[in-house]
Amino acid sequence: MDNRRIIESFSRYCRRCEGRCCSGIMVGLFDWELPRTEGHKLPSAPVNGVLNITFKKDCLLLKDHRCSLSSAERLLDCLSYPVYPKIENGKVAGLIIHKGCPYHDEIAGDAELTGMVRRMWEENLGRLKPEQAAEFFSGEFWDSEMLMEI
Ligand code: SF4
Ligand code: SF4
Repeated sequence: MDNRRIIESFSRYCRRCEGRCCSGIMVGLFDWELPRTEGHKLPSAPVNGVLNITFKKDCLLLKDHRCSLSSAERLLDCLSYPVYPKIENGKVAGLIIHKGCPYHDEIAGDAELTGMVRRMWEENLGRLKPEQAAEFFSGEFWDSEMLMEI
């Protein structure tokens, strides 16, 4: 999946909220993504191959209101939010959307965009060890009241 296409498709929503999810949020980085954060002092260590960072203010990778990672380097979690896969038996069985995004209803109805996010996860699923998937999809962010099936 071409990251630029996903970023461009999200941008029609994200421009309207000025990139709110890059500030005051939690980002999950997989161990294979950690080298991309070189030069940045990370606040904690990975657990089960996932580093969960909560930013009370701006993400440390945010520079001049833009992500300092190139589109090719962009983190899976950042490319995906607020759309995530439902994983069953090691496969993407469906999609869920997090209601924390103010445009989640419109994004849920954007079949082209959600289809791209689904393909991105299908392409990356083989890289996730079971314990990484369990770690990534745990915690209060995944409170079922904040999630909606697409
Ligand atoms: S909260 Fe939603 S619309 Fe706003 S930047 Fe994040 S994904 Fe885009
Ligand atoms: S890594 Fe980039 S896209 Fe992800 S939260 Fe930080 S600034 Fe935003």
